[in-house]
Amino acid sequence: MARFSLFGAADTSRRIAEADSVAVIGLGRFGSSLALELMGGGTEVLGIDLDEDLVQALNGQLTQVVRADSTKQEVLQQLAVDEFDRVVVAIGGNISASILTCSLLLNLDVPVIWAKAVDDQHGLILEQLGVHHVIYPEKDMGRRVAHLVRGAALDFIEVAAGYAMVKAPVPARIVGQRLGDTGLRKTHGVTIAAFQHDGEWRNADNDTVLQPDDTLLIVGPTRDAENFAQLR
Ligand code: ATP
Repeated sequence: MARFSLFGAADTSRRIAEADSVAVIGLGRFGSSLALELMGGGTEVLGIDLDEDLVQALNGQLTQVVRADSTKQEVLQQLAVDEFDRVVVAIGGNISASILTCSLLLNLDVPVIWAKAVDDQHGLILEQLGVHHVIYPEKDMGRRVAHLVRGAALDFIEVAAGYAMVKAPVPARIVGQRLGDTGLRKTHGVTIAAFQHDGEWRNADNDTVLQPDDTLLIVGPTRDAENFAQLR
């Protein structure tokens, strides 16, 4: 069910809050893509935005969509946002609206708040306020793409500073060998966690024997994983 206005939305919000659910405030490109991905994974989503067009566009695609101003405490309470376990603040451009919304959510004791920061100063303020998870989508995506552009990696995720998961082709030198006999951990500092063969991903173990057209999921220190991904 989706509604556009605040009026009458509280009961539905309260019901959503009881389920496996997330409230997403700000339905721009980042917020709407996050909200739709959550819906696709079976999570109920309450979406909130000031912009009537965005609210209309997402009608029927989220559990509930409401046009409202998240910088007003009474609005957040009317929409039962304080009853959600997880709230994402996906407002970036309007930094004061982002800060005010996060501050209200913290005062309302929302247990887990995720907020998007557009730059380091914005992020610092959100962290100092006590927001539990501050994310930097543009900065993180820029860093990730830099790794893709630089190397031969097909995909790259830095799971923590200096530690990465990299998707890459199989270097010729290990084709046809048992992984357990390659000594890769000692010689290259990496672990092959999984491999894709004939379109299907499987966990790798010592007995895995790789074929030339397989794809690898390599984990290890970022530098080592990247160097390994460049081997041919
Ligand atoms: P994106 O890159 O995700 O498109 P943006 O950073 O370009 O976002 P923002 O200005 O951050 O754009 O706004 C994201 C969304 O948050 C917009 O759709 C905007 O209408 C909404 N928004 C901004 N302020 C509020 C508010 N006070 N209450 C509810 N929604 C808001």
